[in-house]
Amino acid sequence: MHTGLFHALDFAADGKSLDFLSIPFSVDRSPYYQVKVPVCRVRNGAGPRVLLMAGNHGDEYEGELLLGRLFRRLDPARIRGEVTILPAVNAPAVMAARRRSPLDEGNLNRAFPGDPAGTPTFRLAHFLEHELFPRHDVVFDLHSGGTSMAHLPCALIERQGTPDRLGRALELMRALGMPYGFVAENGAAAPTSMAAAARAGTIGISGEFGGGGTVTPETMAYTARAIDNLLIAVGLTDAPVLADTAPASGPMQLLQLDSHRQAIYALRRGWFEPAVDVGARVAAGDLAGWFHDLTRLDLPEEELRFQEAGIVISRRLHSDSEAGDCLIQVARPVEEAGILARAA
Ligand SMILES: [Zn+2]
Repeated sequence: MHTGLFHALDFAADGKSLDFLSIPFSVDRSPYYQVKVPVCRVRNGAGPRVLLMAGNHGDEYEGELLLGRLFRRLDPARIRGEVTILPAVNAPAVMAARRRSPLDEGNLNRAFPGDPAGTPTFRLAHFLEHELFPRHDVVFDLHSGGTSMAHLPCALIERQGTPDRLGRALELMRALGMPYGFVAENGAAAPTSMAAAARAGTIGISGEFGGGGTVTPETMAYTARAIDNLLIAVGLTDAPVLADTAPASGPMQLLQLDSHRQAIYALRRGWFEPAVDVGARVAAGDLAGWFHDLTRLDLPEEELRFQEAGIVISRRLHSDSEAGDCLIQVARPVEEAGILARAA
């Protein structure tokens, strides 16, 4: 067998199991090589069905580390229903500490709905959207900014599906306890995990929980709280598994990106110096930063100014930039009523 993706998961089995999704892909070092994607299952009878995944991008670590810890700590006797955990879903990307898989340069979050005859990342995407997601009520995909980007810590959903489903997604997103909730506009045909979850008939929840290719005590704490809160909100557990104390939730500010004018892009080679950091509230016309040219020391650095007001949601961490790199972007604070009205 040199095609497809196979596994020996028994979705009806109670208890705790660690298995692998296997994707045959012949390489120089190993003609019968199979990509091995760890998949953990914990089940205790009928009940809520939750899929938790991280490592969609390999260099985003809060979810990868905490989902491994969650699997080790989860006691089947203390849950109701079932949870499938993929802590390193694009395993080759995780092992390479890269956003994309080095096997096929596949970006899993741009690979849905996938291709059963494609390269490993596309076969994995196809299996997730068509086989695994539909077996669950909620899919929670944990991201962070990755090596090149600082991101405002926020929960994230896409504006997908019926008003009922969107309402439930907003409700679960609020339950995570994050200070910001970002509602992305990617369209029903998007190649993302959240659009795939919607096409699979499940509720997709995501979030950006850190950035910079590292973790901090703070990012680990609120990511742990978000995972605990989701499991409690859907009724899978009744107490936190990762956090030491009962998690507290504050109000959440909803944010939206809906215009290319909310981002500032590099248009040539240069070196970016930000004037503000993520979380800053800015007005249109405010200074966003400076673009230096180390090959033209006789020229003044260029001032970059925001075209739109909002809250700075991400910025590039590598100063060295090329044409096409997104340097900084702002999101617009919005109210829930406006988001639901647009879905109706
Ligand atoms: Zn990501």
